[in-house]
Amino acid sequence: MLCWLNRLHGALSAPTGRIAHLRPSSLRRRLALSSQRRIPEFSSFVARTNTCGELRSSHLGQEVTLCGWIQYRRQNVFLVLRDSHGLIQVVIPQDESAASVKKILCEAPVESVVRVSGTVISRPPGQENPKMPTGEIEIKVKTAELLNSCKKLPFEIKDFVKKTEALRLQYRYLDLRSFQMQYNLRLRSQMVMKMREYLCNLHGFVDVETPTLFKRTPGGAKEFVIPSREPGKFYCLPQSPQQFKQLLMVGGLDRYFQVARCYRDEGSRPDRQPEFTQIDIEMSFVDQTGIQSLIEGLLQYSWPSDKDPVVVPFPSMTFAEALASYGTDKPDTRFGMKIVDISNVFRNTEVGFLQDALSKPQGTVKAMCISEGAEVLPIFLKANRNWNSPVAKSIMEEQRSGLTRLMEIQEDDVVLLTAGEHKKACSVLGKLRLECADLLEARGLVLRDPALFSFLWVVDFPLFLPKEENPEKLESAHHPFTAPHPSDVQLLYSEPEKVRSQHYDLVLNGNEIGGGSIRIHDAELQRYILAELLKEDVKLLSHLLQALEFGAPPHGGIALGLDRLICLVTGAPSIRDVIAFPKSFRGHDLMSNAPDSLPPEELKPYHIQVSWPADSEAKKSSLNQPYCPES
Ligand code: ASP
Repeated sequence: MLCWLNRLHGALSAPTGRIAHLRPSSLRRRLALSSQRRIPEFSSFVARTNTCGELRSSHLGQEVTLCGWIQYRRQNVFLVLRDSHGLIQVVIPQDESAASVKKILCEAPVESVVRVSGTVISRPPGQENPKMPTGEIEIKVKTAELLNSCKKLPFEIKDFVKKTEALRLQYRYLDLRSFQMQYNLRLRSQMVMKMREYLCNLHGFVDVETPTLFKRTPGGAKEFVIPSREPGKFYCLPQSPQQFKQLLMVGGLDRYFQVARCYRDEGSRPDRQPEFTQIDIEMSFVDQTGIQSLIEGLLQYSWPSDKDPVVVPFPSMTFAEALASYGTDKPDTRFGMKIVDISNVFRNTEVGFLQDALSKPQGTVKAMCISEGAEVLPIFLKANRNWNSPVAKSIMEEQRSGLTRLMEIQEDDVVLLTAGEHKKACSVLGKLRLECADLLEARGLVLRDPALFSFLWVVDFPLFLPKEENPEKLESAHHPFTAPHPSDVQLLYSEPEKVRSQHYDLVLNGNEIGGGSIRIHDAELQRYILAELLKEDVKLLSHLLQALEFGAPPHGGIALGLDRLICLVTGAPSIRDVIAFPKSFRGHDLMSNAPDSLPPEELKPYHIQVSWPADSEAKKSSLNQPYCPES
């Protein structure tokens, strides 16, 4: 067994005989260098010699063949040709002998795709365009070929021309021609490539594909259901490869990763997609610090070189602190405006609602100070020296000075105050904090530097939270396979709601971009949590519970939300802008009109029938009504 493992390892890690003898650190250096040096050949194997965007004065005199789309034409003399690498000016020949070339280039509609061959020449003095990277040169065309004509466009392919998102999604293949979409998808590809390199080549991870036809399992997001040919039996699309990656650890795969497609039927939520991509990772014999260092290294290695470098280690904050100071489990730490507990200042208050809140067992009073808010936030009451607020008259002098001292309130600051149960009071202020930041920024203040990437680990989450729809019952804060904090295990049997977990989230600029945990590898503990605390049907997970009984190693992992990460890196307004073919807000593919109806005879093999709601829109559209996209 060792013999084939060694051979496999040798074959994979040693493309040349020489590298095989390098020590790990020099191998690492070598890989890093070779990946920096390699410049891709953009014109190998195809009918062009160069890309439109790469030509410069250094190419003067060269005979080139270019393929691209006609961006625009000027007075039938110049034509600007575009490919995904840039724009180049082509001079349309005017002499009689080149009449056929002129005809092709002058008659082809904008966005037609052409091939031209000619010489790189310099532009006449004074006609250079410093705004164009290729602006010192142009192409003197000798031959031209119309590869395909373009009919009238539904919108102009220019980034500055505004179009509705519905139209962009309906004609996504045209939208993808924009420089912005090209940039986003290419940057995404490059970052994923670097991640693979880091994980596989530098750290020995194995890329394993896991099934997308799976079954319903408890304790997570809602799954998409897939009919099968067996009556009454259904597959489900996995919400993540969670169980498979844990089973891979039982199978001795040791270090797994996958660029994994995940599916969640969560209805319409802004900036979520029913199918999305995770960088999914699992390791055996690891602890929380190990996973965190791996991810810090991964992001540092794959980070685009034109952005400020990622500084590691990332700071860390407990869930309790994040909630108390920022009112959320994903704090945007690029700016202050922290929440402060001012309950003690108001212990003897006469203000009715504060008194009321403080008389309750979990009652608190919280405040947040918006520096110079009075100058720029006209919607708020000004908290100037006269304490201009309806509650001000009931606030005693000592409370005023206590508050001013505690919160370092200055003239022209605005103080927002809320009273109630700790978690609720904090989360109200947490939401207002972000609203205020939006308002202040709309008025010209810069609170959140767009060039700044502020990473943060949030740790020590509770293992369980009260269920939203039934607070008497518990649900997992992460997922049911998350291990309890070692020092809280005993509490599982007495006060489970107090147990902290080994769950960690990665936050970037106020967005959760990853989450993971150290897992339970003890079958008994896993069974107890599922059956006794979460009241789940353990039969549905018997495969996993059984696997844990066969020498499952201690293990843990994490998943990074790739779409959101790339969205933040590119500064795109929506995750749909970093996905080639995203779904609309309502989960539709506006280009192909998925999901679509099926005739009853095609449903028969699956033993299912549609029960149409009365006056159903879906039924109407299934009766071949003209397709009407969402707006
Ligand atoms: N499977 C988890 C998720 O999708 C991530 C993890 O725990 O590794 O959120």
